[in-house]
Amino acid sequence: MMCRIMRLFFIFIFTLFYGFGFSASAADLPDLGDVVGIDDLSPARERQIGEQIMREIRRDPALLDDPEVEEYINRLGQRLVAASAETGHSFEFFVVKDAMLNAFALPGGYIGVHTGLILAAQSESELAGVLAHEIGHVTQRHIAQLIGKQKQVGMVMLASVLAAIASGSSRGAEAAVASGTAGAMQAQLGYSRTFEREADRLGLQTLEAAGFDVRGMAGFFERLQRATRLYENNAPAYLRTHPLNTERIADMENRVMSMRYRQVPDSPDFNYVRARLRVQSLSAPEAVRTLAGLVKGNPDDVSLRYGLALAQLRLGHLEDAARTFDELQRRAKPSPFIAVLSGELSLARRDADAAVNTLIAARKAFPESMNTVYALANAQIAAGRAQDAERDMRRAISGRSSDVRLWGLLARANAALGKRTAQHRAQAEVYVLQGTYRAAVDQLELARRAGDGDFYELSAVDARLREVRAHADEEKRSARRRN
Ligand SMILES: [Zn+2]
Repeated sequence: MMCRIMRLFFIFIFTLFYGFGFSASAADLPDLGDVVGIDDLSPARERQIGEQIMREIRRDPALLDDPEVEEYINRLGQRLVAASAETGHSFEFFVVKDAMLNAFALPGGYIGVHTGLILAAQSESELAGVLAHEIGHVTQRHIAQLIGKQKQVGMVMLASVLAAIASGSSRGAEAAVASGTAGAMQAQLGYSRTFEREADRLGLQTLEAAGFDVRGMAGFFERLQRATRLYENNAPAYLRTHPLNTERIADMENRVMSMRYRQVPDSPDFNYVRARLRVQSLSAPEAVRTLAGLVKGNPDDVSLRYGLALAQLRLGHLEDAARTFDELQRRAKPSPFIAVLSGELSLARRDADAAVNTLIAARKAFPESMNTVYALANAQIAAGRAQDAERDMRRAISGRSSDVRLWGLLARANAALGKRTAQHRAQAEVYVLQGTYRAAVDQLELARRAGDGDFYELSAVDARLREVRAHADEEKRSARRRN
């Protein structure tokens, strides 16, 4: 199955090549409007295009909505970015629910990774290697260069693919992409060999500078290639967009030989994240069965025990989950993953006060973890301490105003406190960040009519309403332009 995000990815590339001549597909196209200036794609414009694609992606159910996985992949990504040669770009990493092995860079430093790839990586260094390669494409501005080079791609091929995508059927799009014509198209879309080698070279440097095992990159790519033989025409998406050959692998291996050998253990977080994804990829009873079997075979692996407790909690087997959790806590080092799970378990057992206490301690112990902040607010609301949650969220938002989860929790805290103006105002910001301006306008209008705001609050609502309405009108206008 080709997920909608992959389709968006292709649509984005087609749109960049050809601008907006395809009204038939307008409904499905991200609005790139007049930002598409092919000859001169400045970094600012690139970022703008990337942001517009991300607005679509944020509304997509295929985007993984798991704050713990998200925090992990961003921490790993930012660690690599900090170690990369060039630091002028800003980066955001996100995870797509898709079993296909894939990772991709959008314009503007947005890097997506499929859950399938995280699960297929045999070490954290392997996963880091793929991210480092993508970071290399971004810092070298390969996307912008590629766009300049590829203008001559045949219109007919493009039209057939676009028509299939516009039909809204992912099967149609998939079929078109899989067909010979589209296959040829895709080969042209793939990054050129030079770009691949450059991304490999920079990726390896980044990987080494960030303290990972440099063999991870070549090893993973080699396994991907071996797997390709089994896939035949149905190669993993990653190989279609990042063509791989023996020469590339040999190149990487030569470079690795001249680098310092270093064995790097995986971080516990890497294993917790994989346990989460594994549990999520199975039905609740299946997950319990599978993880219980794995724990039996690997009694010392704390991440499997973590996964089992998570699976038991999901299935509603609270006593089993509590027992598994006690054993986990005895064996594992303290971690935000364990604290958040402990909080969830307490909430499920209707002991919200215990959840609050655990999470207050965790927030002190792990000040850099946003997940303990979210989980604490959630527990405070459940424990009838919405006032505390409201205060904490406002404080947190002052430093992270684009964090959609904080705004969502602020809205919930205000709802629990019966402050309706503040509730709708916060909910409006959730919709703004998700790019659904119409819904944000509705919330601000509700805030105005709620009747419990003071003069200052209402003036602020009015000012925000004017701004958001302008965005909503602009959105409507560009939709009309496209039709
Ligand atoms: Zn590549």
